[in-house]
Amino acid sequence: MPHVCTCPVCCDIFQEPVVLFCGHSFCKSCLQEWWRQSRLHSCPVCKKIFPVGEPPRNLALRNLSDALRQERSQRANSKDISLPVPASGRGCSD
Ligand SMILES: [Zn+2]
Ligand SMILES: [Zn+2]
Repeated sequence: MPHVCTCPVCCDIFQEPVVLFCGHSFCKSCLQEWWRQSRLHSCPVCKKIFPVGEPPRNLALRNLSDALRQERSQRANSKDISLPVPASGRGCSD
């Protein structure tokens, strides 16, 4: 998966990506959550602080991310979805 299409905060495909002036992009919700927790409008990657309330949306990235997400969900539907197995292999030496 191209690294450029994943959010550095949630490590997943962008949802409603926004772009900061430093050039880094994040999901809108990830960025808002980050800002709320840090109480600073800073970039989660380079820690640059921005005096703005609402970062501009990244429409090009949104189109790309939507296409990727669609592709991924189609691939998931065509296969058996196996539930994640808890990593409790230790102590289970049968
Ligand atoms: Zn995210
Ligand atoms: Zn940045």
